[in-house]
Amino acid sequence: MQSPASLAVAYRANGRKLTPQRQLIFQLMHENETHPTAEDLFAQASAQMPGISLRTVYQTLNELAEMGELQFIEIGSGATRFDPNVGDHHHAVCDSCGQIRDVHVRGAATLRPTDSTDFVINEVGVVFRGICSACETSRRKGSSQRGAKSPVQQAKASKK
Ligand SMILES: [Zn+2]
Ligand SMILES: [Zn+2]
Repeated sequence: MQSPASLAVAYRANGRKLTPQRQLIFQLMHENETHPTAEDLFAQASAQMPGISLRTVYQTLNELAEMGELQFIEIGSGATRFDPNVGDHHHAVCDSCGQIRDVHVRGAATLRPTDSTDFVINEVGVVFRGICSACETSRRKGSSQRGAKSPVQQAKASKK
C-alpha cells in the first residue's frame, strides 16, 4: 500500500471522494501489520475522529482494495481482515492471542493437491497455526496454567 500522501493523489486522480475520514483510514492502514478487521479499524478511527461511521470505514477499505492497495484475507476466524501488504506472502496465526503475522514460504505457489485434479487453482494461501513467542513465554512463566487447554484446542478436540 502506498503512503497516505500518495494515496490522496491517487484518489483524486481516480475521481474518488477524498475526505478527512478516508485519509485517517489511509494512515491507520499504512504499514499496518496487525491484519485488523473493519471493526478494529472503526474502533481506532473513532478514538481519533469521533462520529466516523463503520460504513465509511468499509467503503474506504473496499475502495482501497479495488485500487489494489490492500487485500482481504480470510483466516477462518470469522471476520474478514485487511492487509496493506499486497505482495506474495502467507500467514502465521497464534491460537492463543489471535495475532496474525506475515510469513514467506518458498515454493508455496507451486503447491498442488495430490487428488482433486479437476480443480483449477487461482492462488495458494498457506496458514500456519501455532503459538507466538510472546504467548509461549508467558505460558512458560505461568506454571499454574501449564497443561490447561485453550478454548481453541478444546474446540478442535471436540470436532474429532
Ligand atoms: Zn500469541
Ligand atoms: Zn499479511
